[in-house]
Amino acid sequence: MVLDDLGTSLRSSLDTLQGKARLDEDDVEEIVKEIQRSLLSADVDVSLVMELSDSIKTRAVEEEPPGGTTARDHVLKIVYEEMVALVGDSTELPLESQTILLAGLQGSGKTTSAAKMAWWFSKKGLRPAVIQTDTFRPGAYDQAKQMCERAEVEFYGDPDADDPVAIAREGMAATADADIHIVDTAGRHALEDDLIAEIEEIERVVDPDRSLLVLDAAIGQGAKEQARQFETSIGIDGVVITKLDGTAKGGGALTAVNETDSSIAFLGTGETVQDVERFEPSGFISRLLG
Ligand code: GDP
Repeated sequence: MVLDDLGTSLRSSLDTLQGKARLDEDDVEEIVKEIQRSLLSADVDVSLVMELSDSIKTRAVEEEPPGGTTARDHVLKIVYEEMVALVGDSTELPLESQTILLAGLQGSGKTTSAAKMAWWFSKKGLRPAVIQTDTFRPGAYDQAKQMCERAEVEFYGDPDADDPVAIAREGMAATADADIHIVDTAGRHALEDDLIAEIEEIERVVDPDRSLLVLDAAIGQGAKEQARQFETSIGIDGVVITKLDGTAKGGGALTAVNETDSSIAFLGTGETVQDVERFEPSGFISRLLG
């Protein structure tokens, strides 16, 4: 089974099914309760947890385990399949020329993620460039430049300019030889109209193939409003969850995925440019349930 890293309480509930050929409703109820507990403490939205619980209960009670399958393996398979349906597959990212626009609030990890993703694409043999349009946060230019140097990828920014849209336009032209353009944008402390207006203009200028929303793993339910606003303004195709090396499990980001009808693209797992993983459902599910 792909889920090899379950939380101890869920594993012990499942273990009580060992040897049973059929499940009764109490067994299922017990398991679903454990799953709910884990997911709620991982910040997964209550309504998503309830939907998932209902699907698991219905299937576990109604579906016959295929011949030779124990009740434990049967329910584990159902839990896994329903969890995959909840977290989704990873955002499609063909290894070909493309422009990626990053959106998110200040401090979510956009600049770090831009350099990380550029590093990731460079390891796949592509030629990425990062364009830093954040003129709002002091230090954003230097930080982006340094990280891109560490990642050994092309970087464009202008520390003296104050028009992010002009930087975006000039940056796209100056890095025309690159295969992958990753456009970092400014955030704000909260959603503000000028932030939205600015990113809409940048979006028009760079015409991205994909716009990704960068969210801190600790986001919780604040993800909903952000996701909705960015979805309306530029359209969100995927989510990057950062700071998964901390204690937060990133379940709040699923709210954004659900809200934007998108998927997860990358996970950030540390402060250096190499601390990036492509999203892959089973590891993330284990983390949520662990
Ligand atoms: P931005 O304002 O959205 O561009 O955010 P930054 O990229 O500047 O990140 C904000 C802070 O979070 C910085 O101190 C980063 O080093 C840190 N950070 C970003 N991603 C991660 C991550 O995956 N793990 C950890 N531990 N820190 C991160």
